[in-house]
Amino acid sequence: MSNQSSDSVKRLQDLATMVSLAKRRGFVFQSSEIYGGLNSCWDYGPLGAQLKLNVKRAWWNSMVRRDDVVGLDAAILMHPTVWKASGHVDGFSDPLVDCKDCKTRFRADNTDSYINDKKCPNCGSKNLTEERKFNLMFKTHMGPTEDAGAVVYLRPETAQGHYVNYENILTSSRKKIPFGIAAIGKSFRNEITPGNFIFRTREFEQMEMQYFVKPGQDAEWYEKWREARWTFYKKIGIREENLRWKPHGPDELAHYAKAAVDVQYLFPFGWQELEGVHNRGDFDLTQHTKFSGKKLDYFEEATKERYVPYAIETAVGCDRLVLVVLCDAYREEISVDEESGKPDTRVVLGFHPDLAPVKAAVLPLSKKAELQGPSMKLRDELAQEFEVQYDDSQSIGKRYRRQDEIGTPYCITVDFETLNDQKVTIRHRDTMKQDRVALTEVSNYVAAGLRNFSK
Ligand code: ATP
Repeated sequence: MSNQSSDSVKRLQDLATMVSLAKRRGFVFQSSEIYGGLNSCWDYGPLGAQLKLNVKRAWWNSMVRRDDVVGLDAAILMHPTVWKASGHVDGFSDPLVDCKDCKTRFRADNTDSYINDKKCPNCGSKNLTEERKFNLMFKTHMGPTEDAGAVVYLRPETAQGHYVNYENILTSSRKKIPFGIAAIGKSFRNEITPGNFIFRTREFEQMEMQYFVKPGQDAEWYEKWREARWTFYKKIGIREENLRWKPHGPDELAHYAKAAVDVQYLFPFGWQELEGVHNRGDFDLTQHTKFSGKKLDYFEEATKERYVPYAIETAVGCDRLVLVVLCDAYREEISVDEESGKPDTRVVLGFHPDLAPVKAAVLPLSKKAELQGPSMKLRDELAQEFEVQYDDSQSIGKRYRRQDEIGTPYCITVDFETLNDQKVTIRHRDTMKQDRVALTEVSNYVAAGLRNFSK
């Protein structure tokens, strides 16, 4: 009797597995690795850069294809008074403690051993410094002089770009309240304890949206945006059992916030924040009016009322979402080979096809010239529409596995029969089902498959 194949699926157990896959397959590398790396800085390799772009595109489309949201790309460097007005110069700090014995530096407000017993998280010593406030903004100088007058900051959030452009956007886009501004861009925070791969870094990208509403309608819009954000995560294929809401208690609220809730994700290192949805009230526009002297209010034609709008913010880290997408997509399918009886593991990144960095791979069965011609022709044709890889080295089985591991939805095999019947074999990543499809139909077949994909 032959062995029955018994399939079981294992999900990602630890972050190290993902860090290693990400490096091996060219998703994420340590920054400046040949110099020993730079703490908490990461570079996105060929597949990572494409994945990140796809994540940004998914977010951007979910925002600015709405009639009530417009896009913005603001500069990283802003007038220094922006950060006085926003409260960042005075208030954007974390409590910092040093261990006098092992010299470990850590954040007092999120380190369990310190919160519970006032102990160092590394060596357990109680020989610690007092808590000191440490401002997280990176400072630099504009122009050739390094005097205090030339100090500027690398922005610690993109949101202030939305507020200082509120009036320009309102006038130029002819939008009416309620409307939103969405932006994607780099932010910088001199985090005391960065870590967990690309989860918390000092340089990162944010995808933020500020939605301006009439005071009194803020609670309703806050709920609507919570719903919209949850729908977004479902739509890009994040498994719902790995997501939850975590409201901020009154003592956790940021200085500007009337209400706040986090979307948390179950990372291999536990539940952690992925996105914040905040009701910022009129704090920011009021502050910028105070500091700039410019009125940033709104005149409502219908009611002849003038008011300072409230802002509902949705803020997610792009790098953090890339980590979520990677962790959530990872699976190991373990089966027993029917003939040999040996266990076999297939590693798959089951990305939603909108996010998959490579949509299809063209795999000629052999390197022989007669297959190369039609294979390259097919590759070039498909590359007009999608990201495609061409791979002709090693066995077809190994090539399928390589594509599974980078999450390619379709593998297209060109074989000797193709030369007679002008057909190729298309293999599906998730089911491994194979279809024989006419060469002229491949592009339509793949496009339809990507469009109609459901988990
Ligand atoms: P924390 O309390 O964890 O430092 P935060 O609540 O201050 O973060 P926000 O200011 O609300 O974070 O930023 C919005 C989003 O930006 C976060 O939900 C997160 O996804 C992302 N983000 C914030 N800081 C970092 C960082 N250092 N590295 C990567 N992403 C970050």
